[in-house]
Amino acid sequence: MLNATTKICAIIGDPVAHSMSPAMHNAGYEVLGLNFAYTAFRVNGEQLHRAVEGIRALGIRGVSVTVPHKIAVMEYLDEIDATALKIGAVNTIVNTDGKLKGYNTDWEGAMRSVEEGTSIEGKTVVMLGAGGAARGIGFGLLQRKAKKLVILNRTAEKARELASEMGVEYGNLDELKERLAEADILFQTTSIGMHPHESETLVPKELLRPDLFVTDAVYNPFETRLIREAREARCAVALGYRMLLWQGVTQFELYTGVKEAPVEVMEKALIEHLSKK
Ligand code: NAP
Repeated sequence: MLNATTKICAIIGDPVAHSMSPAMHNAGYEVLGLNFAYTAFRVNGEQLHRAVEGIRALGIRGVSVTVPHKIAVMEYLDEIDATALKIGAVNTIVNTDGKLKGYNTDWEGAMRSVEEGTSIEGKTVVMLGAGGAARGIGFGLLQRKAKKLVILNRTAEKARELASEMGVEYGNLDELKERLAEADILFQTTSIGMHPHESETLVPKELLRPDLFVTDAVYNPFETRLIREAREARCAVALGYRMLLWQGVTQFELYTGVKEAPVEVMEKALIEHLSKK
């Protein structure tokens, strides 16, 4: 039951109507009996600055930031955590007495999802995609000491830009076969395979072998064609929803100050919400 002391958190983005974050965070508040509530605000680019001032004026405690504002929001904050600054994107704002600090929990969510199944240190990783998700994931892979990272993207120029920022190798999708042959981990970060194009994949099934760990950032559908075919090829896999879960867990802890978020309850809420899509 909301009351005058309820702390409000929210996600801002455009679109946000189908966001999974409210279900996941509210389930956590409920099970811990926290006087918090989490909602969603649709905010377009023109409204972004005023929306951020609104966070401050209304004392909104925590705000998750999604597409298309993760970069643009940075100039309106009072402080940005060093890691988020390095990645160049913020997905989390914490309001402490009117001071707004930006964080990035996406990268850590992605790394935790992989580390549930395999270690990253010393591994060779092929990352497909050079968009927004790839920035944080690439940063995380290097932070976790991957031995080698190769960025492959449809538009090779974008792969080149990101790879030169990170000091790693790059190429276009034609190189997939030879690059995968030497890889331990494949991290798929493009939107290929996402609803309503579930039948698409960038990776021919014959390139998948049992000693390749395969992870896909796409979480809708729950199991993408790439993940299904990787399982059929006896690869160990990480599903995209795990990344979503873990980035939300870190946000939950930042907003509430709780040391260990109720992960299982948040996961259940997330899966229920995803299965309704
Ligand atoms: P983005 O910035 O728009 O980047 C899209 C990427 O997909 C680019 O590399 C783009 O290549 C590539 N791509 C798009 N259409 C393609 C096609 N037909 N053939 C080959 N490549 C294509 O998007 P994003 O924010 O990085 O998100 C990418 C995916 O990750 C989305 O499905 C999103 O839902 C998911 N995601 C998941 C999580 C999670 O927590 N699990 C978090 C963030 C994002 P070009 O450069 O050539 O256009």
